[in-house]
Amino acid sequence: MVKSFLKKREAEIRKVLVYTLGLNLFVALIKIIAGHEFHFLSLSSSGLESLFDGSSNIVSLIAITLAAKPGDKKHNYGHHKHETLGSIFISGLLFTSALQLAFEYKEVILENKIITGEFGVIPVATILISMAVSFFVSTYEKREGERLKSSLLLADSAHTYGDLILSVGVLFSIICSYFGWYWPDIIIGICIILFLIYMAVSILRQNLDDLLDSSPEMQEQVLKEIESLPDVYNVHHFRARGNANWMQVDFHMLLTPDLSLVEAHELSHKAEDILKDHLRDYCNHVDVTIHIEPYEKEHVDP
Ligand SMILES: [Zn+2]
Ligand SMILES: [Zn+2]
Ligand SMILES: [Zn+2]
Repeated sequence: MVKSFLKKREAEIRKVLVYTLGLNLFVALIKIIAGHEFHFLSLSSSGLESLFDGSSNIVSLIAITLAAKPGDKKHNYGHHKHETLGSIFISGLLFTSALQLAFEYKEVILENKIITGEFGVIPVATILISMAVSFFVSTYEKREGERLKSSLLLADSAHTYGDLILSVGVLFSIICSYFGWYWPDIIIGICIILFLIYMAVSILRQNLDDLLDSSPEMQEQVLKEIESLPDVYNVHHFRARGNANWMQVDFHMLLTPDLSLVEAHELSHKAEDILKDHLRDYCNHVDVTIHIEPYEKEHVDP
């Protein structure tokens, strides 16, 4: 029953990501074209940013599909780290595009080649459409993320809200061009470059943590709850690694020595259920391994 729920949940997250991907690619295309045609650096930079939002949607889609793929002979623990690898790749692409944009701006600023954006209905309409899409995507992802308890969707929703704020800046710079003020276009464009670099750094940092097996924070209350089970004396050697998508947890559990194997096994499943219940909101898949030991006054692990 739990399994069928997970499959349905993954299918629903996938649906949200596919819609978002389509919308991102659409706004990226119209912003890049309108930005080039009407000479607004901020508008085409914002288009490039949306293109990367689309590619990170693709990485998320691959991650969701791979996370559902069970372990095999070559990858006993499953395929979760493919997501980490994909995200690090995206972060590299972001850096490269930010540098490329910075190069364009260098020419504009150093060689004094002021680009004069042409005010028109099309650039204004383009950015308004983009703002409407960002607003829709951000609200939609927030609602679905809360319903499906998906940190992936919630993070993307927060990011899209940031895009909406940047778009206000782009709209401002287009309106300024009507009055012959061209510098806001450059300033907003530079803000977008900084935003791209910030995104690249935060994606890299988070995924290096995953790659290097950093341990997610665990509430002490969980261990106390397991230790309060009858016949459980203590929990030690607790280890956890992973992220919001997949987590591996293992620990030792000291039990009353004269329990039967059947009873001890049952207890270990109770402990596992407590842990999974606590982590349900934070993590999609939790793997738990429990090492059972008979209680002795001075327990020493070999
Ligand atoms: Zn974005
Ligand atoms: Zn079992
Ligand atoms: Zn032990």
